[in-house]
Amino acid sequence: CGIVGYIGKKKTTKVLLDGLKELEYRGYDSAGVALLDCENIEVYKALGKLENLKEKTKNILENDYNLGIGHTRWATHGKPTELNAHPHLGEYSYVVHNGIIENYKELKDDLIKKGHKFISQTDTEVIVHLFENINNKINDTTQAFKDTISQLEGAFSILLITKANPDKIYFFKHGSPLIVAKGNEEKEVLFASSDAPLIGLAKKVVYLEDKVGGVASAENIEFFTDEFSWSTLPESKQFAQK
Ligand code: GLU
Repeated sequence: CGIVGYIGKKKTTKVLLDGLKELEYRGYDSAGVALLDCENIEVYKALGKLENLKEKTKNILENDYNLGIGHTRWATHGKPTELNAHPHLGEYSYVVHNGIIENYKELKDDLIKKGHKFISQTDTEVIVHLFENINNKINDTTQAFKDTISQLEGAFSILLITKANPDKIYFFKHGSPLIVAKGNEEKEVLFASSDAPLIGLAKKVVYLEDKVGGVASAENIEFFTDEFSWSTLPESKQFAQK
């Protein structure tokens, strides 16, 4: 239902929780965050109100992380439970997703045959396993992300983070809204599914068009389109250069 993401020097947990608070009005049944520093990913999920997630994360509010992603869920596949809350995890990667993966059953059956273990009832979980299945073979996170996207059908806005490339957030927008923004501070990138979480934090925002994705790091945001060719966005939508 709602997505936020953050790369930067501010306290990541707080930025994500504040962002999710701004998305509350859209309604949700559960919420979660994943926080990545160089070697670790920590995940916190809670059913019900954001207050429940806040309670679980109160001891990590002051911690520093490279980046993080957050989600408020409105269940479409799988009951509202803590296990079904996002972010969803594989062995070393985490994803948040708005929308529906229409072909998740076929993909899931195939991945189970290949040895992947699923723990939720969601359509979303298939994304992270598909990504890791491909990345394990080709060891190229960006290409693995593109190959993953090209196999998904339905509506999906996605943020994916992985220990295999811990400075980056991989993103794609198709069907559900997604905004990427440069923060007011140096080396700061924000994501949100609507502009409310970005107000006051970001000057330059890009409302992504359908079938546009990319890779963001503190230094740089690269975009690719449906054809998966790297591209610069139309002039009017590019961040102004300093
Ligand atoms: N289809 C996903 C789920 O049921 C995402 C729902 C959403 O957009 O919040 O978990």
